[in-house]
Amino acid sequence: MKTLTKNLQDQISPLQGIELLKAGNERFVNNLKFNRNLLQQANETSDGQHPFAVIISCMDSRTSAEIVFDQGLGDIFSIRIAGNVINEDIIGSAEFGCKAVGAKVILVLGHTNCGAIKGAVKNVELGHLHFITHKIQRCLPRIKQEHPHLHEDELCQKATKENVLQGIIDLKYKSTILADMVYKGEITIVGGIYDLSSGLVEFFEAET
Ligand SMILES: [Zn+2]
Repeated sequence: MKTLTKNLQDQISPLQGIELLKAGNERFVNNLKFNRNLLQQANETSDGQHPFAVIISCMDSRTSAEIVFDQGLGDIFSIRIAGNVINEDIIGSAEFGCKAVGAKVILVLGHTNCGAIKGAVKNVELGHLHFITHKIQRCLPRIKQEHPHLHEDELCQKATKENVLQGIIDLKYKSTILADMVYKGEITIVGGIYDLSSGLVEFFEAET
């Protein structure tokens, strides 16, 4: 696997970017990781970086994007925050990754059994955590209205996906830069759920 250069990055379309992530996750799931010389990659990327994707995922210790998508140094921007919620700082980081550095894909990645989602569903109060849980809780009334008799586990499951979809909407509606790039076909924004037990990422193809 070659270290990404500007030229290689330019040749990757948004759809090919998604395929690269899918292929990387398939290698991870099948324990067929590329044998990279990371020290050499450190050297090759020391003057600049040309990642093809921005991955916004949870801080959960089991969901490291570089590992679960089998990526090397300089391949992806990895933005991590509890519950993979979107705020201004994260939007700014995604804008930098795409507009300034040329990434082609933004993936908002949730995961099964997410503590932040559970905290939002159970309305856990802890210090500054409400800044995160309140963002996640926006999707709960809609889910409860559509499915009034869900068990807590099922509610968490649905909220995990809805929270990812909400994240995609936040990115598009709060950033004119990203919305414009999507409109022009320069980038694509997709969602996914990482399964903690299988290691598999389920992608949502349809953009909201
Ligand atoms: Zn989580």
